[in-house]
Amino acid sequence: MILSGKEVSAAVYSRIESQIASLSEKHSVTPGLAVVLVGEDPASQSYVNSKAKKCEKLGIYSEKHVLDTDTSQADVLALIDTLNNKPEINGILVQSPQPPQIDERAIIDAINPQKDVDCFHPVNVGKMLIGDEDGFVPCTPAGVMEILAHYEIETQGKHAVVLGRSNIVGKPMCALLSRKGKYANCTVTMCHSRTQNLNEICLQADIIIAATGIPEMVRGDMVKDDVVIIDVGINRVDDASDKRGYRLVGDVAFDEVEPKASAITPVPGGVGPMTIAMLLQNTIRAACQQNSIALESL
Ligand code: NAD
Repeated sequence: MILSGKEVSAAVYSRIESQIASLSEKHSVTPGLAVVLVGEDPASQSYVNSKAKKCEKLGIYSEKHVLDTDTSQADVLALIDTLNNKPEINGILVQSPQPPQIDERAIIDAINPQKDVDCFHPVNVGKMLIGDEDGFVPCTPAGVMEILAHYEIETQGKHAVVLGRSNIVGKPMCALLSRKGKYANCTVTMCHSRTQNLNEICLQADIIIAATGIPEMVRGDMVKDDVVIIDVGINRVDDASDKRGYRLVGDVAFDEVEPKASAITPVPGGVGPMTIAMLLQNTIRAACQQNSIALESL
């Protein structure tokens, strides 16, 4: 079975649309998202533009703040302070990577945790770990959990192997899969660049979440029959036959692994489309919390 992020994100957007309509009709609230970009990284600009475009389409108020590459740390902090205190803004996202004079950690720490829709602030990371529903869940791992739930993948008691230990994917992925609850309750093994016997560990996995950024590193002989594969990787590899000169591949060798897998996400069209959808879902959650509205009542 192909796990289509296009299909799941469409379901999330349709839920979001009805929540936005209900927020407006019942409460006269319009959710607002501010996206901050320091510098001119073309990939970041394209991410920021697609986030702003999606907001416009759905009726979410959005602000795009593009600052010069040489902007000082103090000026970025001053902008965060303004956004923290602006009632129209419910969510703040600072796009990575940032130029070297910017201390990314200090910027994240300065965001009001209630507006930290990326879930990078230590308060929200802590809340996610203890299962406090008041916080946020980081967007890409939240997207993976949404895919598992949408396709009703049985996860209880299964051995999930997560490849990667980054703060934005690997670590939160392990925390969410091992939580109590439906589409969680996994036994989790976290693997990383220093893991020994990776093939042996992967062969024991019922579910593999690949987030290493290494193109097609999970091969057919590393997985057992009926494995569930979630491929978070998005990598460009040279391809002269493609008019762009490259194609996108995941961290999993799809053609080798797909025949053995019971379910697998493709790249592109798998986890990729989920991230912005979950960011906007977090923005609506933030708007509800800041206006004392129960999200479930919408
Ligand atoms: P990262 O570079 O921060 O982390 C990579 C991780 O892989 C590290 O923790 C490292 O220890 C681990 N690793 C490296 N070599 C390994 C090996 N041989 N075996 C096991 N683990 C190994 O990357 P990231 O930000 O977590 O992103 C991972 C991938 O996911 C990238 O391809 C990225 O483009 C993609 N990504 C996709 C989305 C999305 O929206 N779908 C969002 C974020 C990241």
